[in-house]
Amino acid sequence: MQTQGLRKTVRAMWDEVPFYRSRMEDMGISPEEIGSTEDLQRLPFMTKCDLRDSYPMGILACDTEEVVRVHASSGTTGKPTVVPYTRNDIRTWEECMENCLRTAGVARGDVFQVILGYGLFTGALGFHYGAEHLGAMVVPTGGGFTGRQLMLMEDLGTTVFTSTPSYALHLCEEVRKNGLSDRLRLRLAILGGEAWTEEMRDRIEKDLGVIALDSYGLSEVIGPGVAMECPLRSGLHPNWDHFLFEIVDPVTGRVLPEGEEGELVITSLTKEAMPVIRYRTRDLTRFIPGKCDCGRDDMRLERIKGRCDDMLIIRGVNVFPSQVEAVLGKIDGLSLHYRLDVFQPNGLKELNVLCESECELEEAAMAKMEKETLKKLHENLGIRVGFKLLVPGTLERSAGKAVRVMKVA
Ligand SMILES: [Zn+2]
Repeated sequence: MQTQGLRKTVRAMWDEVPFYRSRMEDMGISPEEIGSTEDLQRLPFMTKCDLRDSYPMGILACDTEEVVRVHASSGTTGKPTVVPYTRNDIRTWEECMENCLRTAGVARGDVFQVILGYGLFTGALGFHYGAEHLGAMVVPTGGGFTGRQLMLMEDLGTTVFTSTPSYALHLCEEVRKNGLSDRLRLRLAILGGEAWTEEMRDRIEKDLGVIALDSYGLSEVIGPGVAMECPLRSGLHPNWDHFLFEIVDPVTGRVLPEGEEGELVITSLTKEAMPVIRYRTRDLTRFIPGKCDCGRDDMRLERIKGRCDDMLIIRGVNVFPSQVEAVLGKIDGLSLHYRLDVFQPNGLKELNVLCESECELEEAAMAKMEKETLKKLHENLGIRVGFKLLVPGTLERSAGKAVRVMKVA
């Protein structure tokens, strides 16, 4: 089935997408030469840049009249990336989401609150249709308005919600502040859209009394629905019926041996309007060898550690924001509402970490915690960084993805 999907996808790209055809021609390869998934490595990569360059709808492997919907991913600079779907693509997406939600343990009878932005962003509608298809009762609250979110959560008896991890953390804060934990029926949080650590998972699970699962997907590929954790939380189960996955060296593009960490590369097998072949996600992960205890015997992906582009070079040393988060999460009394300020006073880049305490503290206690955190950051990152403890509520809360890194002149 995978072979068939791959051959069909390559043929469509060759016939309909001039830039990809010429790239294949440059490499001296024709669609007939792609006999099986073993030949995948012979095909050229696609990048975010390719998608951006073909704005608005340059990568279209079907007739324009076949397109029934578009979504778009946010562009950090200028134009977004537009992603078209045919009617079949929408069905495929629904099926991917339904599979993922089943893996997560969502079932008929669940009350499923979608706390993600509706609109061009793929997150909300993906979960919405997937959960509805599964027979859950969907509550499409969208992002923001925390008071109303919590009211509906309580009154409708929400059992599952989906949001970004940073918004879930914000919910924890509000639930605690309003003493709501006993009045909620939540059992599952499905979180995605940004990289998050095990430390953050622990906090969310403890505060909300839920199992928190990681969901993976990206608009350029289909939206959410690419891979999902099962309740055992030991890696993501990918949707192998619809996608092929490779892990490559982020610099050279060489395919890495099983189990090694690198950049995730995705090929779609069933998409019609905008297929992707060897799409460089910039997300860092690895395959987890062996079977999952849940009984699924497919290969799992480790949770995304971060994006290649997120890596900071501080005083000449590579630092991922997730590494800093892991350190902060291990310190009792810190809240995980944090921000990283990067500045370049002269020559090398420096890092200043800002993080709120969980509750208001006396000056002496603050100084002690600051000192302890500084020491831990130094030990774990191997470089000296600055640290400032903030009183609760200082940093801006986000309804979507949190802005963690600020470049300070
Ligand atoms: Zn499993």
